[in-house]
Amino acid sequence: MLDVSNLSVRYGAIEALKGVTLNVTPGEIVTIIGANGAGKSTLLRALSGLIRPAAGRIRFEGADLAAVPAHTIVRNGLVHVPEGRMALAKLSVLENLLAATGIRRDKSEIAADVDRVMGRFPILRERAKQLAGTLSGGQQQMLVMARALLARPRLLLLDEPSLGLAPVISQQIFELVSEIRREGVTVLLIEQNAKRALAIADRAYVLELGRIALTGAAAAVASDPRVIQAYLGG
Ligand code: ATP
Repeated sequence: MLDVSNLSVRYGAIEALKGVTLNVTPGEIVTIIGANGAGKSTLLRALSGLIRPAAGRIRFEGADLAAVPAHTIVRNGLVHVPEGRMALAKLSVLENLLAATGIRRDKSEIAADVDRVMGRFPILRERAKQLAGTLSGGQQQMLVMARALLARPRLLLLDEPSLGLAPVISQQIFELVSEIRREGVTVLLIEQNAKRALAIADRAYVLELGRIALTGAAAAVASDPRVIQAYLGG
């Protein structure tokens, strides 16, 4: 579904990604773990067309994304939920959801989809009229994930969905990611919470200073002594 080969991204003199190769097959949850500044967010920005690579190739469902603008990439089903829960704070929950459907051409199905997404996140139905800026962190994370689902992703890129959430709330978010996959959406999950991410993922990549240091089945990565020491507090 996604084939990334030898991807390099620069910010001026800083080479944030140095020849990254990875792939995602349909139906998987693939996680990328790594420390602060390893290049995780940069990778997602490059995949969704927000920054252009200095070198390398990105193919999504067979098409080369090099020259494809970000708004076309999202229409093609590769949908990015950036870190930071950027909801429209002064709009209600429902208005945020409706705003997210603006990119869609199939206007007739939008009402049914908003209803379905609210079924998946019942708290959003309860809070439909509340201003998004007044939601809790966990509720805002659900709102940005619900917005992404309304774009009908085939591949969902999630950047640190659990960041800053209390453990019990973050557990709920990870469970929602598993449910979203069960409903047929492939997921590429960036996380600093390596333990939880490895528990729900099929495969994992460890990103260190812009390079893939290790990859394999999530269970194998979780039992690798280097990973235990560096990322699992072992
Ligand atoms: P974090 O979890 O802290 O976001 P990360 O693994 O996502 O970390 P990136 O944000 O991708 O890492 O950053 C990778 C490197 O690129 C870091 O050295 C960072 O300082 C640098 N960097 C990121 N964004 C920019 C930018 N807009 N301009 C210059 N350097 C940047």
